Amino acid sequence: MESSYGLRAVRAGSATGAGLAGWQADTGRTVEIVRKVPVTYWCPQGHETTPVFAELAETEIPKTWDCPRCGRTACREQGATAERPGDEPFKSHLEYAKERRTPEEAERVLQDALDRLHRRRS
Ligand SMILES: [Zn+2]
Repeated sequence: MESSYGLRAVRAGSATGAGLAGWQADTGRTVEIVRKVPVTYWCPQGHETTPVFAELAETEIPKTWDCPRCGRTACREQGATAERPGDEPFKSHLEYAKERRTPEEAERVLQDALDRLHRRRS
C-alpha cells in the first residue's frame, strides 16, 4: 500500500519556496527532499574529493573543483589534469582565425589612418 504523503514532496529545484518552509513548520519535521548527488573529482596530485550536490542536471555539475587539500584544480576524470604545465594554452580554431586576421586588420586600420592624415594635409 502506497502512501500519497511522499508524493506531495516538493521536487528538487523548487524546494526553496515558502511552501516547503511552511510545511516543515507545520509538521515540525525536516525531511530530505532534495536528492543528493556525490561527484568525485581528482586533482593532479591524486587527491580525491567528493563534494555532494543537490540533484543537478549533468550539464550543471561543475567540470572542475578546487582540491580542498592542495588548492589545485581537480577534474572529474581520474588522471586528467585541467592544468597543463609547460603546454601552450589550448587555442580554438576561432582564436587561430582571429590571430591570422589580426595583422590584416591592423594594416587596414593603419591605412585608413594614413589616408585620413593625407586628406587632412592636402
Ligand atoms: Zn590536491
